Amino acid sequence: MREVHCGSCGSTTRHQLSILEKIIQLQAASVQGETYINYACPQCNMLTRSRVVRRAKAFREIDPTKFLDNLRIYAVSLQCAKKGCKSRVELLAPVMREITEGELLLHVQMNWCNRSALCAENHPPSYPLQIRDRVMLTGTEK
Ligand SMILES: [Zn+2]
Ligand SMILES: [Zn+2]
Repeated sequence: MREVHCGSCGSTTRHQLSILEKIIQLQAASVQGETYINYACPQCNMLTRSRVVRRAKAFREIDPTKFLDNLRIYAVSLQCAKKGCKSRVELLAPVMREITEGELLLHVQMNWCNRSALCAENHPPSYPLQIRDRVMLTGTEK
């Protein structure tokens, strides 16, 4: 398991390594040996370039498995703001389970706010946010 720390509010979500690797393969930045991915925080709805933490600390307040039960994990590709740029802003996006796939675009446009998420060429996503692609990584079971 790995944790992703929101670069905005500091809250974390825990993920199976196999899921995180899919996102890291799509797009990741390495800063001083640390891995950063674009992350849509389900707590504050901010899009940030956030750190993947290798060694998970012991969880005190919340049971992470319970928390993740309420989330579906998507890989979401957002349109980059720079015209002609071929890169997209690839995000790890844990989304509350009650939001259906059909409601996802509306949820994204109404609630998400970019702070530091960037495409591979370091451009922000375009506004209004536009989903170019999305893949559900978990949540189909049950
Ligand atoms: Zn946050
Ligand atoms: Zn770009």
